[in-house]
Amino acid sequence: MVEELRNCKICGRLFRSISDSSVCVPCMEQDEKNYHRIREYLIEHPLSKIFEVSNELSIPVSRIKRYLREGWLEIVEKDNRFLDCEICGTPIHSGKYCEQCAEKARHEYKSSYSGGYGTKTAQKLNFHSRPEKAVKKVASR
Ligand SMILES: [Zn+2]
Ligand SMILES: [Zn+2]
Repeated sequence: MVEELRNCKICGRLFRSISDSSVCVPCMEQDEKNYHRIREYLIEHPLSKIFEVSNELSIPVSRIKRYLREGWLEIVEKDNRFLDCEICGTPIHSGKYCEQCAEKARHEYKSSYSGGYGTKTAQKLNFHSRPEKAVKKVASR
């Protein structure tokens, strides 16, 4: 078995990558825990905004963005300002590229996601990208 030394994408520590993972085991576990906390939070509080979730759970926005980039989570708004295609800049719900660019990329690269984190069920999230337009659970009228 070939083990490769890598720098963890999250904490930067050098670790032995066994399953072609880019994060070390403690970070992966932490990551998974955070992901589940986010999911639970969103089940209880649908229509939460990314910034609320981040504040409530003390998970950095950048981390949440990474979940979105990795396709674990999704933004419901079509026209969000939070996540955009890394190639052309079109707003996207999840992942790195818009459909067109993903289509193109599919021909050029093999997908680098091996999903080594166990179940990769993307939960559709009612994330809203604009913090100023607060959607409160209590109706305003
Ligand atoms: Zn780490
Ligand atoms: Zn694109």
